[in-house]
Amino acid sequence: MGSAVSSEREAILETLRQFCEAEIRPHVLEWDERQHFPREAFRKLGELGFLGTIFPEEYGGAGLSTRDYAAIVEEIARVDGSVALALAAHTSLGSSHIFRFGTEAQRRAYMPRLTSGEWLAAWGLTEAEAGSDSGGTKTTAVREGDRWVLNGSKNFITNASVAGVAVLMAVTDRAAGRHGISSFIVELDNPGIRVGKKENKLGMRASDTCTLVMEDCRIPLSHLLGREGDGFVNSMKILDGGRISIAALAVGIARGAYEAALAYARERRQFGRPICEFEAIQFYLAEMATDIDAARLLTERAAAAKDAGEAVPRLSAQAKLFASEMAVRACDRALQIHGGYGFIKDFPVEKYYRDVKLCTIGEGTSEIQKLVIAKSLLSD
Ligand SMILES: Cc1cc2nc3c(=O)[nH]c(=O)nc-3n(C[C@H](O)[C@H](O)[C@H](O)COP(=O)(O)OP(=O)(O)OC[C@H]3O[C@@H](n4cnc5c(N)ncnc54)[C@H](O)[C@@H]3O)c2cc1C
Repeated sequence: MGSAVSSEREAILETLRQFCEAEIRPHVLEWDERQHFPREAFRKLGELGFLGTIFPEEYGGAGLSTRDYAAIVEEIARVDGSVALALAAHTSLGSSHIFRFGTEAQRRAYMPRLTSGEWLAAWGLTEAEAGSDSGGTKTTAVREGDRWVLNGSKNFITNASVAGVAVLMAVTDRAAGRHGISSFIVELDNPGIRVGKKENKLGMRASDTCTLVMEDCRIPLSHLLGREGDGFVNSMKILDGGRISIAALAVGIARGAYEAALAYARERRQFGRPICEFEAIQFYLAEMATDIDAARLLTERAAAAKDAGEAVPRLSAQAKLFASEMAVRACDRALQIHGGYGFIKDFPVEKYYRDVKLCTIGEGTSEIQKLVIAKSLLSD
């Protein structure tokens, strides 16, 4: 899988920018207020090839690199974090898990529908009692004749009510602890699975976050994904890739907020001059621009290592930790530069400020990223 050369990448990003300006930006606040998931925009993103970026062309993907994909997530997040989050969960979590650990038959059955956007993917590891400690999964999968029977529920699942298929983790051998967790492909029209509570969120409100409840959910034996007992370990590998997309998401939100603040600082006048002439404001802008560049470099480093086939737990955790914490800081500064106007919905910055917080929580909190980084440092 090659990285697009820079002129190709720029052309792809230009197409995406035009799409975001025409089809996303005008609706951002309305979708946020209504908590509306823009399924139609995703259909168009699929037609343009943005829902299968990192998968080979033979499965309907675009065959781009992780670096290209990170640039794509950043570009979308610059306009709307919710759309970028849904795309990242679809690509890096659900679709990647099927592509990376699926059999050829599973790939052929699902990847073309996912890369085209006909179906969206969800991915469920988290449960009420198993958040950071995902090894504490309670959902069970029991083999009965020619079926697996799943019982339990998954919390906070992105795309849950809009996806066609989900990858879900369940315990197949309680005695084996983390090595007794397996992954399954569950089609979401199965009568044994239903969408439960839809979360009413601080930010990322146009992304869909719901509980998935399984009650005697029967699926074919062939829907085991990867080897029995490998579900936890494989999930951690999937999160290593996913965290690169959350880092890119954070960079994009920070950039959107920074660009809004820079424009505002040039226009807003107090004490007879534009506020960008005050050194305090200049320092904020300088720090934000430097932080954003540093986070993007860490994200690109992790993405390049992944493209080179290296294991990336430390690099992706470092990128996610730094990018998400800096993005929270950057959005706070961007709002401060707007003064009272940052606090009202006539300006985009209050939404960046709400959306960005998810980046320090989803796919492992900042504290968990530090544990991953420290584990790697201490085992070297
Ligand atoms: C909008 C949204 C979308 C999401 N999408 C998905 C999804 O698609 N699929 C999915 O599976 N999950 C998803 N999640 C879940 C997310 O990954 C979890 O919320 C996250 O991993 C934290 O788990 P928790 O919320 O249970 O917090 P907890 O684990 O209860 O953590 C609470 C606090 O304790 C800290 N903490 C916990 N353990 C330790 C420790 N050992 N050392 C130090 N500090 C610790 C945490 O860092 C945190 O500050 C989503 C969450 C949100 C909010």
